[in-house]
Amino acid sequence: MIVYKTEEEIELIRASAKVLAQAHGEVAGMIREGITTRELDKRAEEFIRDHGGQPSFKGYNDFPYSLCISPNSVVVHGFPGDHTLKSGDIISVDAGVLLNGYHSDSAYTYPVGEVDPEVLQLLEETKKSLYLGIEKAVAGNRMGDVGYAIQNHVEKQGYGVVRELVGHGIGKKLHERPEVPNYGKRGSGLKLQTGLVLAIEPMVNLGKKDVVQEKDGWTIRTKDYKPSAHFEHTVVVRKDKAEILTSFEYIEKALQ
Ligand code: MG
Ligand code: MG
Repeated sequence: MIVYKTEEEIELIRASAKVLAQAHGEVAGMIREGITTRELDKRAEEFIRDHGGQPSFKGYNDFPYSLCISPNSVVVHGFPGDHTLKSGDIISVDAGVLLNGYHSDSAYTYPVGEVDPEVLQLLEETKKSLYLGIEKAVAGNRMGDVGYAIQNHVEKQGYGVVRELVGHGIGKKLHERPEVPNYGKRGSGLKLQTGLVLAIEPMVNLGKKDVVQEKDGWTIRTKDYKPSAHFEHTVVVRKDKAEILTSFEYIEKALQ
């Protein structure tokens, strides 16, 4: 079943997304060589709880942390821990907030210190593909239009689009129907309607699209060990233009 949200519910998701965007800004301000990913996780959890929310991921299917932190060849679902950021790394930070009964979800990939220009470009193009996908998330379009926009952009650059993991509906549950693949055929799939709230989240590999799961049962990394980028927004489908409920504003301010 697909749950379309009322304006009142969208207002609650917007409030959740605001705390999430600010929590991301807190983390962004701490990204530097020498910090461990555990410290980032700890700060995000404190910030979310101090603002009345709960980290959506902690305890979700027994996931043990508040953030998914995925360095370099890790695509998504990495565990925060002893990994110490070093120059040349990229690091994806994925977070969710539950506030007043509603979830929001967003992710951003950071360069640390001096990063290979080829990898910096992967980050730029992945972020761009997220916005190209969001542009298609308007009432009357089809889900395949969103996936096609993302896939077409990144494959033109020679990148691989992950197939095994996809975006999703979001609301009272972190993961709701429908699935939002980052690939697809124009004009195919579910017809999008106003009030559909989606987490759109391209996962894009510098090399091939193939991924494997590590033995911890969570961590997903590229099979060829090349880097992978992940950007995500929670958006609501509207008539002429999707509204982005999460924001990278606080991240980008912190990075200046
Ligand atoms: Mg996420
Ligand atoms: Mg998500």
